[in-house]
Amino acid sequence: MSIFTDYKKEIMDAAHNERIRIALSRAIKNYRANTNNALRKFPRTIKMAEEVREIKEKAIGEMKELAEQACEAIEENRGKAYIAQTADDALNIIRGLVGSGKLIVKGKSMTGEEIELREHLEELGNKVYETDLGEFIIQQRKERPMHILSPAIHVPKEDVTKLFSKITGQELPPDDIEALVATARKLLRDKYFRADIGMSGANVVAADTGTLFIIENEGNIRLATGAPPVHIALVGMEKLVPTLDDAYKVAEVTWRYANYTIPQYISLVSGPSKTGDIERTIIYGVHGPREFHVIFMDAGRTDLAKHQILRQALYCLRCGGCLYECPVFAVTAGHFGDKYFAGIGAVWAAVISHNIEKAASMAFTCLTCGRCKIRCPMKIDTPEMVVELRKLIAKGAFS
Ligand code: SF4
Repeated sequence: MSIFTDYKKEIMDAAHNERIRIALSRAIKNYRANTNNALRKFPRTIKMAEEVREIKEKAIGEMKELAEQACEAIEENRGKAYIAQTADDALNIIRGLVGSGKLIVKGKSMTGEEIELREHLEELGNKVYETDLGEFIIQQRKERPMHILSPAIHVPKEDVTKLFSKITGQELPPDDIEALVATARKLLRDKYFRADIGMSGANVVAADTGTLFIIENEGNIRLATGAPPVHIALVGMEKLVPTLDDAYKVAEVTWRYANYTIPQYISLVSGPSKTGDIERTIIYGVHGPREFHVIFMDAGRTDLAKHQILRQALYCLRCGGCLYECPVFAVTAGHFGDKYFAGIGAVWAAVISHNIEKAASMAFTCLTCGRCKIRCPMKIDTPEMVVELRKLIAKGAFS
């Protein structure tokens, strides 16, 4: 069967899958209520989003310079920083740092998904634990994420109960989400303290100070990036902005549109842990990691930035808002996707993942209805990008 036939079958099966529809309709309802509430409470976010769009437009034109500046700042903070031109370069750097036989605790990272990081680490003989609850569920189900922020969005509680009952060998009570969360905590708790390496991505990076902003609610990132002796972060170059002040604004707009008034944790990481408490002598490696490595990955981003229409894909904050408004995503979840989802995901599939057949399938599935654009804090014109992408694919521009 061709990839198109496979895709059609996958997406039609998903559209007829009642469990996906139940899980998605619950999630969409909650997302809209929470986001509207957060925006009502902090109306300044709407104005700030306009400012952030300007920050991102400018930063995307200067990604290379910003990456170099961030590398210098991180090295000044006694971390190590690298620029990977390609996905393979990124994997080679990580391979060199990690080696094999390690226990790794990992936070959710779309950039990691993009280069299939967990699979590569496992192939090298490492034991990797996804620590985000949704990602942990997906890892245990041997599936791929179905949403950029809520990877297990398509899995209703009944299925999680079955899964965790199987893992623990104990019959967990149905309908008890608290018990499910407690089970995940128990399963993962000791791994943070036994791990050799913690891995993360970042939501935004300030080039002037080399500071990574990582937004989360579960506390898993705090533990994964704080407890092990080594922290490695993989970051797409589009996450760079010039200053700490810019980065804060990007972060605030991201979490508001990701349906949070305020997230439970915002970690700012600029280097390995240090102390000067004994005779003002600075020693690196105290309670937190003694090594901090950041890999800034290009992998097609600077090429994408050159395209007048498609470059908008790089302004994306990964708040996930558009996916909750997409009528196709509402019934198919991440089956309408590759590593990234829906209309905007088609651009990433074509230009970043070079998966043209998947990109074409997604571009022609998109209804170009524009509901995503209305919700998007960056006002990314996904229908415009999709129409352009269809033209480029038809012209054979990617072959
Ligand atoms: S395209 Fe816009 S709404 Fe969708 S994830 Fe990106 S920033 Fe959020």
